Amino acid sequence: MSRKKFIAGNWKMNTTVDDACRLAQEIVTAVGKATDVDIAICPPYTNLSEVSKVIKESAVTLGAQDVHWETSGAYTGKVSCSMLKSVGVTYVIIGHSEQRQYFHETDETVNKKVTAALAAGLLPIVCVGETLDERKSGAMDTVIERQTKGAFRGISREDALKCTIAYEPVWAIGTGETATPKQANDAHIFIRNIYTGLYGDQAASQIRIQYGGSMKPENAKELLAQSDVDGGLIGGASLKAASFLRIVQPA
Ligand code: PEP
Repeated sequence: MSRKKFIAGNWKMNTTVDDACRLAQEIVTAVGKATDVDIAICPPYTNLSEVSKVIKESAVTLGAQDVHWETSGAYTGKVSCSMLKSVGVTYVIIGHSEQRQYFHETDETVNKKVTAALAAGLLPIVCVGETLDERKSGAMDTVIERQTKGAFRGISREDALKCTIAYEPVWAIGTGETATPKQANDAHIFIRNIYTGLYGDQAASQIRIQYGGSMKPENAKELLAQSDVDGGLIGGASLKAASFLRIVQPA
């Protein structure tokens, strides 16, 4: 089964509205209306509305970096699924390691967010990945299995197929360290096997698994050529149109 590649840019806590619109415009101008890869950009909440206007009618889609599971109410600082939908968001990153490390994200909150996002018609990008200590101590498989099964607890096969999984080894995020193509592919095969256990062979052959962790133009081609690497979740290299575009459209 051939899976269409999916490249998403995670802009993290970067860009003012002006910066974001400029960056989005540069990407849209280069990409146009059709591509052979799916593309999403995920600016901060404050820029979603304006960026949504810039990418309208292009092949670039909009993602958010997080969401809250409640629908509305007294949750100061949080943003709901319907709020994201109302500004044209399609994808939402859930369970990013920075959320897990710094903002008390747990497998349980990831699951609540995935459940709420799917119910609202958003498409989750579910992040999983081990820390360096977990890899060194041999706990990597246990951690990834726990995170993956935790994220999909109670999610139907039909809904699970709307998700993307991002394998993001924490030690490779923003560090300049990249998993080797083989390390990445082995982890992706492991995750796909977990998914097979949950939803069967056919679903597992369809689910897209992105690699994230210092992916850049210099290493993207080889990573993306691996059998089970179906795209990338790009942090630093997505903040410059030229480098993001060289990953989306390798020379
Ligand atoms: C990320 O934040 O999802 C990420 C992969 O960051 P970077 O590409 O900067 O390592």
